[in-house]
Amino acid sequence: MTPNVAVNGYIDQAAELLELRPGVGEILKINEREVGVQLPLRRDDGSLTVVQGYRVQHNGVRGPFKGGLRFHARADLNQSRAFASLMTWKAALLDLPFGGAHGSLLIDPSDFSTAELEALTRQYALAISHIVGPDRDVPAPDLNTDARVMSWFLDAYSSRHGYAPGVVTGKPVSLGGIPGRDAATGRGVVHVLSAAARRWNIDLSAQRVAIQGFGAVGSWVARELDARGVRVVAVSDAGGAVLNERGLAVPALVRAAEAGYSVADAGVAYERIAPAELLTLDCDVLVPAATGEAITALNADLVRASVIVEGAHHPVTPQADRILADRGVRVVPDIVANGGGLIGSYVEWAQNLHQYPWDEQRFLAELRIRLVGAFGQVAEFSEQHGCSYRQAAYAVAVERVTDALRLRGRI
Ligand code: GLU
Repeated sequence: MTPNVAVNGYIDQAAELLELRPGVGEILKINEREVGVQLPLRRDDGSLTVVQGYRVQHNGVRGPFKGGLRFHARADLNQSRAFASLMTWKAALLDLPFGGAHGSLLIDPSDFSTAELEALTRQYALAISHIVGPDRDVPAPDLNTDARVMSWFLDAYSSRHGYAPGVVTGKPVSLGGIPGRDAATGRGVVHVLSAAARRWNIDLSAQRVAIQGFGAVGSWVARELDARGVRVVAVSDAGGAVLNERGLAVPALVRAAEAGYSVADAGVAYERIAPAELLTLDCDVLVPAATGEAITALNADLVRASVIVEGAHHPVTPQADRILADRGVRVVPDIVANGGGLIGSYVEWAQNLHQYPWDEQRFLAELRIRLVGAFGQVAEFSEQHGCSYRQAAYAVAVERVTDALRLRGRI
């Protein structure tokens, strides 16, 4: 099942739960716009190549489209369709004035030089410049993209349309970004995990946490947990995984990652395990924070954690979701758990529009309040309706989008 089909299945469930009239579910599943662009590139060695890119805008009824741009060899159109839809639901759930979008360049960025990545980003920005803008669609960093990529995008866009810092978020602070945006998704995951632990009477300080992925999300989840004295027993990245039952020295792993090494080569004498083994380790909390579809029907039975908090987009397939639910494993869905980045983007976009900077303390308070609030609403809906947290999250979000569609006379 492709990820967009999986997400559409969750929309169907929400439509049923909310007893939406026939046809509305179909409207919620279609993308308002899908753009494919072909970007010719002269490589550093003089050869020519063409790179495929996409931008999918799912539903903009509550505000400008908003969502990440990723560089990944498998980031195809169906993945962007799924993630654009997830962004619509995430924004609605967090009650932010955005619709959902997602974009990608189908490349393995490690195959390209910095100059080539810059040229591709600029071409991509110009190729989609007619459909983006502060009040149209606002890209942000996602897998393998960062503040530098956003700066190139901003520069290319501004060269055509005039200076508009609100056209992208996740920018460097000196270009209108906000301090703490890099850490926001990972920190947000920990706010949501803490709220879940409080609700379920779990003592977080006694939990053993395993984190899949040590990038822009996973490494910040590890840092934040470590700062709170919670034991991180295993982490992985594309190059390997390490385990220590007594807890890993997170700062040493972060230093290794920042120096370009895998956590498996951090020079600390930890047991090395295969990255796939991390998902089925004996631990209490599992945070999948890497690429999608990590937990499938093939390994869901083997997961030993009792709580899963989805740091990545769509890390659990619907079949795995059912298996985990039957086994009593609690899953906090992506559209709640990884909403921190979007809250950061909202604050950055708002400060760009108003030209009035937010300080970090005010932003961190906003991050916690919005995530804890959204988690509480999902938990209450789930308890009232006897449904899973994922079904509850979609239902709350779908209701808000449907309301906006109705008020605007679209349905
Ligand atoms: N890539 C991040 C996410 O999917 C940020 C998206 C955004 O802020 O627009 O949550």
